[in-house]
Parts: sequence; C-alpha cells; structure tokens
Amino acid sequence: MADTMEKVVSLCKRRGFIFPGSEIYGGLANSWDYGPYGVELKNNIKKAWWKANVYMRNDIYGMDAAIIMHPKTWEASGHVENFFDLKADCKGCKKRFKAADLKDIKKCPECGGELTEARQFNLMFKTHTGPIEDASSLAYLRPETAQGMFVNFSNILDSRHPKLPFGLAQIGKSFRNEITPGNFTFRTREFEQMEIEYFCRPEESDKVYQDWVEARKSWYLDLGMKPENIRFRKHSKDELAHYAKACTDVEYNFPWGWSELEGIANRTDFDLKQHSSFSGQDLRYFDEVKKERFFPHIIEPSGGVDRCMLAFLADAYHEELVKDDTRVVLRLNKDLAPNKVAVLPLLKNRAEIVGIAKKLALDLKKDMVAVYDDTANIGKLYRRQDEVGTMFCVTIDVQSLEDKQATVRSRDTMGQERINIDNLKQYLIEKLK
Ligand code: ATP
Repeated sequence: MADTMEKVVSLCKRRGFIFPGSEIYGGLANSWDYGPYGVELKNNIKKAWWKANVYMRNDIYGMDAAIIMHPKTWEASGHVENFFDLKADCKGCKKRFKAADLKDIKKCPECGGELTEARQFNLMFKTHTGPIEDASSLAYLRPETAQGMFVNFSNILDSRHPKLPFGLAQIGKSFRNEITPGNFTFRTREFEQMEIEYFCRPEESDKVYQDWVEARKSWYLDLGMKPENIRFRKHSKDELAHYAKACTDVEYNFPWGWSELEGIANRTDFDLKQHSSFSGQDLRYFDEVKKERFFPHIIEPSGGVDRCMLAFLADAYHEELVKDDTRVVLRLNKDLAPNKVAVLPLLKNRAEIVGIAKKLALDLKKDMVAVYDDTANIGKLYRRQDEVGTMFCVTIDVQSLEDKQATVRSRDTMGQERINIDNLKQYLIEKLK
C-alpha cells in the first residue's frame, strides 16, 4: 500500500501536480508547490466546496478575512495559552520530536542520541507588524481560518440581517509550526483550510450537528470518493476539547492508514462568549420574535484543502493492463478533473489537420478547460492525458478533412466515437454536465 503513495507522489512530480518546494535550493523540508495541474485540481475542489456550501444554500455567506489578525484574537481563542505540543530535542542530531510520538522511547529514533526533557512549544508562527520588533508589535500567522469568521459575526448581522440558523464559509491559508510534518501534503506547516461556522439556537445544535455530518458525507461521496475509503469517527468524551459537546472526524483510508480529513465539531457558545469577553463587544444575537438575546451555538465543519486533494488523488489513482501495457489513469470525478478535453492532431506535419485541431481547441476553451497538444505521438499523448485524468481526448485525422468528424475517446471506457465537429462542443457540454 505504501507503494501507492510512492506512485502518487511520483505521478504528481512527473505530470506537474505537486513539486517539492524550493527544489533548486535542495528543497525546504515539507513544503510543496502546486504545479499547473495541481492548481487546477485544488481550485476545482475549492469550487465544488464553495458551490455546495455557499451558492447552493440560502443560509451561508462567504468571507475572506485577513491572515494576520489582532493578537488578542489568539488570546480569546485559547491559542496563545493552549496551542502547544510537548517536544523533546535530540542533543546529538538536533532533531525535534513530538513527545506523544516518542511514547516510551528514551533515545533519539533517528541517531540513538540523548533526548532533552520534553518542553512546550507553541505551534503559532510569530511575526511583527511594523518596523519595530518588540512585544507591542507581536503578531501571529493564523493557525486556522475560523477566528476570522467569529470576529465578523456582528458585521454579518448588521450588513446581511440573517436569522438563525445561518453560517459563514471561508477558504484560506493557515500556518502551524508542526513538529512532525510529513506524509507528503498531509501535514505541512503552510496549508489551506475550508471552514464553515454555522450559528444556531442552543436547543437545535444536536440536530444541526447531525445534519452537517450527513451533508459533509454526501459532499465527498457525490464527488466520487469510494465509500469504502471514507469513515466517520465520533470522538469519545475524553477526546473532546473542553468546550466541545461533540465531534466527528471524517477519516480517509490513506495508503499509510486511516487519517483525519476533516473535523465536524459542536463548539457550543464558547467562541462568541470568549470574543465578547476579550473585545468588550456584545456578540449576542437578538431574536426579534421571542425578544431574547443569547449567544448562538456553533457547528464547525473544518477541512483541509491539501489533505482533501491528496485523498482524491489516492482514491482516483488506478492502474490496469491494456494489451500487456500498464495504463495509469486518474479516475477523478468530472468536476474535479483538471483538464476536461485534449485536442490532438494525429499528424502534426499536416497543416490542415493542425489548423482544424487548433481552431477547435480555441473554441472549446471558451466553455471548458481544454488543451491542444502535439508534442508526441498519439499513443503517448493518450497516456499522458489518462495520467492527469482528462475526461475526453478528441483526435483530428486525415479522414476528418473529408467527413468533418473527429474521434472522441473517453478516459474511463477508452471507447471511441466519431462525432461531427460542428456538434462536438454541445456533445462534450452534455457529457460534462
Ligand atoms: P491533526 O490532528 O491531523 O494535525 P487537527 O485535528 O489539528 O489535525 P484541525 O485543527 O481540526 O486539525 O484543522 C482542521 C483541518 O485542517 C484538518 O482536518 C486538516 O484537514 C487540516 N489541517 C490541520 N493541520 C494541518 C496541517 N498541518 N497540514 C495540512 N492540513 C492540516
């Protein structure tokens, strides 16, 4: 199974999904750069999330808050006080380890050297705002996007006048100085989150929480994730954060085992109460019918874009034997596939064929992500497109000059059809709906 991971990592590099960060300088450990197909896949995941959670609902508003927030935010949220990991350093090789990972191990797992006592280490990246680096200018890179939504709660009430229940949704970068990053893009120090803060009446929170678990399950399955590779694990009482009433982890069966993709938590009224008390602003909601003022409870589905993309890549990776040759194909859902169509001329030295293919690609680009490629023979071109999950390949050949038809090859079935070039765009639009 670890083998699958190596294959996915190698495909990501070979085909331009994900590259090691700062590679020409020898790489920066555990940082990754998204290449041409990676950025498309990542954008498609974000688009699918935004569509399901913002556009398709009447009760959720989108947001994009600043990464550097007022430092008091992180006092109110508990991150300054509690966002710690216990770490031990190796006195020999200087590597740092999470105490939880070491358990009963007394020596450095890397070099066998002596370990220091475990010390607390805050996961937030510190920086300074303005030219003077002192305590008054101390600031943090946000370790989660959630707080940007809590601090804007009253702005949303005043500008959009929503009634409970309603929510806020945000996608953006977060930063954690993780001590044990790893497993490719699964745990990194800079990553993207997709978070929803859904505000509701306290007595409705159990039902709203359950509804969110179901909604998130449908989202992953509707995008084609294999049901046997995803599970929902409810936290036991002793696993819960002190303020949380319930939490369910969405877990994916990664090549190295089941790991968290997303957490769905019932955070009670903790966040709004904390920010009210630290800011001195009244963040209670006023119910005009019942004439009562109270702190709404919050249900938070919080997922990682990078982890989600890695899960979809691992899920879609497929090898099959075709005429004694191994065909590697990414069976990504049509909404996630980075390329929808590739237009390929069968003979690149025939000007009329190339002309038709280029014109067709340009026309298709107006309505879908389409590429033109003539950099190899047709067999190789098909193989490359299969590896990046392109839904359809359209080939223009000598016969096309006479019958004005093109061959459309489907990624999944490899079945081919001759379609009139004039009708081709409509044909593809229907297939990709
Ligand atoms: P873990 O225990 O795996 O580090 P977490 O429980 O601390 O994750 P949350 O604080 O619940 O994570 O963050 C919500 C989501 O953000 C996670 O489910 C994950 O998808 C993503 N995420 C968190 N930390 C990282 C990271 N270091 N790298 C990539 N994604 C992350």
